[in-house]
Amino acid sequence: MTCDFSLAHYRDLLRAARDGGYRFAGFDAAPEPGAVILRHDVDLSLDGALAVAEVEAEEGAWSTWFLMTRSVFYNLASPEGERAIARLRELGHRVAHHAVWPDVDLDERFEPVVAWHNPDPEYMRAPIEGAVNVMEPPFFDPDHYRSDSNQQWRHGCPHDDLRQHRFEWLQLLTHPEIWAFDGATMRESMESMLDADRAARLEHLRNDRIDLS
Ligand SMILES: [Zn+2]
Ligand SMILES: [Zn+2]
Repeated sequence: MTCDFSLAHYRDLLRAARDGGYRFAGFDAAPEPGAVILRHDVDLSLDGALAVAEVEAEEGAWSTWFLMTRSVFYNLASPEGERAIARLRELGHRVAHHAVWPDVDLDERFEPVVAWHNPDPEYMRAPIEGAVNVMEPPFFDPDHYRSDSNQQWRHGCPHDDLRQHRFEWLQLLTHPEIWAFDGATMRESMESMLDADRAARLEHLRNDRIDLS
């Protein structure tokens, strides 16, 4: 098995969790032994998010999607953004808020759960009034946490540890753009994403009655 950052290997991870006897959980109750909390911070691409969300649904998995309200890369209030939220819910996923310090824009679109985008240590684990902070106890501690930041696993790809049930429970943070767009490095994945984005934007132009003849 190659531990590349592809949708195929993301599927392997889900199957490893299932084969390891884990069940999927969210941020509404303290993690119990045997829980895998799939968390996705959506920094860049709703299309990338939906591609990963579909794979999870096919595998009988569900996760919590942290979406931004102040992204320069996507607009959650656009028709495309509203469709993305609706599709995530339709597939059985949960939607929470990926906030940019210090603004928390919790509204009816989100569960009261917040993950800060690129947090500084000073506030990363601080309680948030009226919401769960995903990086505070009981949802976070270093032994029960893995993340794919910048297309690198700090402690190696967790598929084997999941299959062998080596985690009591786990919060697994993945960024969908890394998995949905091809590339052996973060740079290459970003180039793939930008290529796909150009095609999507041409489509938006057509839909906006721009004459491209
Ligand atoms: Zn792997
Ligand atoms: Zn982020």
